[in-house]
Amino acid sequence: MAEQESLEFGKADFVLLDQVTMEHFMENLKLRFEMGRIYTYIGEVVVSMNPYKQTQLYGKDVIEQYQGRELYERPPHLYAVADAAYKAMKRRAKDTCIVISGESGAGKTEASKYIMQYIAAITNPSQREEVERVKNVLLKSNCVLEAFGNAKTNRNDNSSRFGKYMDINFDFKGDPTGGHINNYLLEKSRILHQQPGERNFHSFYQAGNHSSLICSSPLHPPISQLLTSDQSNFKAVADAMKVIGFSPEEINSVYKILATILHLGNVSFVTEGDAVAIENRELVSQLAELTSTQPESLLRTLLYRAVATGGGEVIEKGHSGKEANYARDACAKAIYERLFCWIVGRINTVIEVKNYDARLHGKNTVIAVLDIYGFEIFESNRAGCEPPAWGSPRELPQGRIEYFNNQIIVDLVEQPHKGIISILDEACLTGGQVTDAMFLESMNTKLGKHPHYTSRKLCATDKSMEFGRDFRIKHYAGNVTYSVEGFIDKNKDTLFQDFKRLMYNSTDPVLRDMWPEGEVSITEVTKRPLTAATLFKNSMVALVENLASKEPYYVRCIKPNDQKSPLLFDAERCRHQVEYLGLLENVRVRRAGFAYRQPYDRFLLRYKMTCEYTWPNHLMPTDQEATRALIDQHGFQDDVAYGHTKIFIRMPQTLFCLEQERAQL
Ligand code: ADP
Ligand code: MG
Repeated sequence: MAEQESLEFGKADFVLLDQVTMEHFMENLKLRFEMGRIYTYIGEVVVSMNPYKQTQLYGKDVIEQYQGRELYERPPHLYAVADAAYKAMKRRAKDTCIVISGESGAGKTEASKYIMQYIAAITNPSQREEVERVKNVLLKSNCVLEAFGNAKTNRNDNSSRFGKYMDINFDFKGDPTGGHINNYLLEKSRILHQQPGERNFHSFYQAGNHSSLICSSPLHPPISQLLTSDQSNFKAVADAMKVIGFSPEEINSVYKILATILHLGNVSFVTEGDAVAIENRELVSQLAELTSTQPESLLRTLLYRAVATGGGEVIEKGHSGKEANYARDACAKAIYERLFCWIVGRINTVIEVKNYDARLHGKNTVIAVLDIYGFEIFESNRAGCEPPAWGSPRELPQGRIEYFNNQIIVDLVEQPHKGIISILDEACLTGGQVTDAMFLESMNTKLGKHPHYTSRKLCATDKSMEFGRDFRIKHYAGNVTYSVEGFIDKNKDTLFQDFKRLMYNSTDPVLRDMWPEGEVSITEVTKRPLTAATLFKNSMVALVENLASKEPYYVRCIKPNDQKSPLLFDAERCRHQVEYLGLLENVRVRRAGFAYRQPYDRFLLRYKMTCEYTWPNHLMPTDQEATRALIDQHGFQDDVAYGHTKIFIRMPQTLFCLEQERAQL
């Protein structure tokens, strides 16, 4: 086969390893990385190594080489997977999803962008205006979301601090007609604290260039420091927002909100006897101006909270110094989180599919791209079972592959009444002063016998955990120790209603829009809001259900070292990732199962010229029989199985040989 790579670059598919051992796997991974071959298949899964340097692997020329080709015809690439997902979507009207996993800095987000660029490049050949608009917004949305959702961390200079799921909708021609973005779990605590060497979200440094910050005076140290940086990115983001369709007023509001958060961070409280006051009063009027609220109301909200008495009366209760600090920080975090969600929502309104008439245009199909940290568990959970969309598994001889059933961990975390989330929720809802230590105690009581749970109290000899603070879960990838510190607080995610009302009463429509529940009056009895853990669990359940309905494609990203070096293959670090991504199991499954499958008619169309019984057309009663004749003539009987509608092929070599035959004719 012409495109098959020479052996000096190692095996292009791990399925072709002489032996499936960790040593062989690692040897091949290293060789390919050193040869600049950053992509390698496991069947149809792409394993991607972060090259940490610019390469010639992308761009228009390369895209053309992959467009419309079969996966195994070209060297492994993200483009090939994107093309496979696109073809499945277009030819078979399948909804597909591309799941990208790997640890921070492994290259997930870059991969998702290359995939989107590929799809943008191969669609809309007739240059329809509306389709161009949608594509443009989809591509530009990355720039805006990264500005507000990414930050420099010690692991990655451009680390996504949120999970992202994106749907791209296609019409019957296979052109994008719209899309939808879901965001998950923004790391809002970054607003308040960053590890040494890390930064706040990019947006704050870019915002230093915006007039709403430059004009506000006097400048407090943290703000003036920000003014020095990120000017060119500021322009790029502002332009992207314009292209997407944010109005100048909206953009202005966004930057005013960023300024609000920075100023809020500078508000400090002093206690005078029983009373709490604001030390830097001048900030109050500035904040009121930035948020388009009344200075009086703002001041009261920072210092007091309204409490409804039993008799329907409302009284004001002053914060303690501690409460005031807590409330201010909670506000800052909440404002940023709402801002981020508002931006995502705003982008969604611009790209949502409008007026799609299925009767006129055929089925509206979807390619989803998932870029989210920590989804390894979902995949290894499923690594052993082929999703039904690939053909009925009952047609196949069953291999005996051992794989870790993650259900036991899922239950430990999620089970109603008994799982960690339930125990946490229960602790949060009891009212009164519940501490993290009490939550840990409760877990020790209820989970003490669980084989995957332990804590220092239960295992007194284990000095690697701290008594009264840590617990440990034995995950598939290894033990992980968690500190209970802050669990209760984060789960309650308390924000005083007064603050929501203040924001809702802002005359800035953007800000008001973000706080719909501020409309509720204090005397109205409202349902207790769901806890953070439960909300997150629910959103994950919905995501998993959604993905399960789509034909999956996988990209597994590996980070070669912690130094961001293009030269260093840190064997220990890589090996660990290969382990917890379950890649070896993946190879075994692929080898035992049948990595390649094709409907008989498509198979014949491609290879009928290699056999006298099928060229130019076969005379047999069915395509299946014709396929059998072809396979028998080549002597590949042992490597295939015959399904109802598809041929299943175990080894890629069989296809390579057929391709070679075809090419030599
Ligand atoms: P993740 O999203 O998995 O945390 P990123 O996609 O942000 O990781 O990648 C981290 C950094 O690694 C990028 O900012 C870039 O410098 C580098 N990188 C990742 N993938 C590639 C690639 N394919 N080519 C060149 N550099 C890359
Ligand atoms: Mg990322």
